[in-house]
Amino acid sequence: MEGSARSSIRRFWQMRLLAIISLCVFSALICEERHALRAAEPAGPDVARVYGYLQKVCAIGPRISGSKGMTQQQEMLRVHFTNLGAKVFLQEWDTPHPITGQPVRLKNMLVSWHPEATERVLLCCHYDTRPKPDEEQNPRMQEAPFIGANDGGSGVAVLMELGNFLPGLPVKKGVDFLFFDAEEFIFQKPGKFFLGSEYFSTQYRDSPPPFRYSCGVLLDMVGDKDLKIWQEVNSAQMAGFVTDSVWASAKAVGVKEFVARRKHTLNDDHLALNQIAGIPTCDVIDFDYPHWHKRNDLPAACSGESLAKVTAVMLHWIQNLPVARP
Ligand SMILES: [Zn+2]
Repeated sequence: MEGSARSSIRRFWQMRLLAIISLCVFSALICEERHALRAAEPAGPDVARVYGYLQKVCAIGPRISGSKGMTQQQEMLRVHFTNLGAKVFLQEWDTPHPITGQPVRLKNMLVSWHPEATERVLLCCHYDTRPKPDEEQNPRMQEAPFIGANDGGSGVAVLMELGNFLPGLPVKKGVDFLFFDAEEFIFQKPGKFFLGSEYFSTQYRDSPPPFRYSCGVLLDMVGDKDLKIWQEVNSAQMAGFVTDSVWASAKAVGVKEFVARRKHTLNDDHLALNQIAGIPTCDVIDFDYPHWHKRNDLPAACSGESLAKVTAVMLHWIQNLPVARP
């Protein structure tokens, strides 16, 4: 009786040991599989997510400077970037309304990653929308709301997507996302463009902050379904090394929609950064867009693939920042 009890106890422990060993082997296998799954996950931008950001921005409706839609967008962006760990600042000032002359409060939004770094780079876009789709030939069509999915929304969506990667990114410099207000607070032609970038650049020049921007990239109209981004002539002339580095990043990540040849010469927010602030800045813009300043500049004319490709280029660029040519 005693002998059989002892052997049954031994058997019990043997069984337990066997069970524990099997469990360990099983867990190790599962763990390895999980690692393999994680390694197989795409590390790059998410097509559906970035398109979702564009839809979210456009669902607000028009985001005209000083409007409720603009305030709603600012709040949405503040929450988005604060949740990702960035510091969000507003630069505010008043401008007379182009028609009524009444003061309108304008706000550039600065989203700061690693705010302690004194060497920084800028990634910017405008986040206001044109008051009317005034490229429509039929004056009745000009009364339709202008949603500005590509012109106003696409840069915002790319920076929102890029924000998901910034916290874990080993970058050599601090990165600031800058959203310009009043790029086109224009009710009748000719009007004054670029109020936000000119205000920011003048402040940067006249009341220098305790850090410097070594260079910048402006994103404008980067969501076109039929994406093709040529080098912009002013950018190539004023910020050649930045332009070269962006197209080098596109080549490195295999985004063929960036064509390394010059096409349009454009006035955009990058002029103030180059000429007033002295920050070499390149404009990344697809200006061959059939819905430019028309009512059909809607999310349907844009694609998540285009937005994700531009995000991928910028993600590579941030990790391979250019050095100014002597
Ligand atoms: Zn525009």
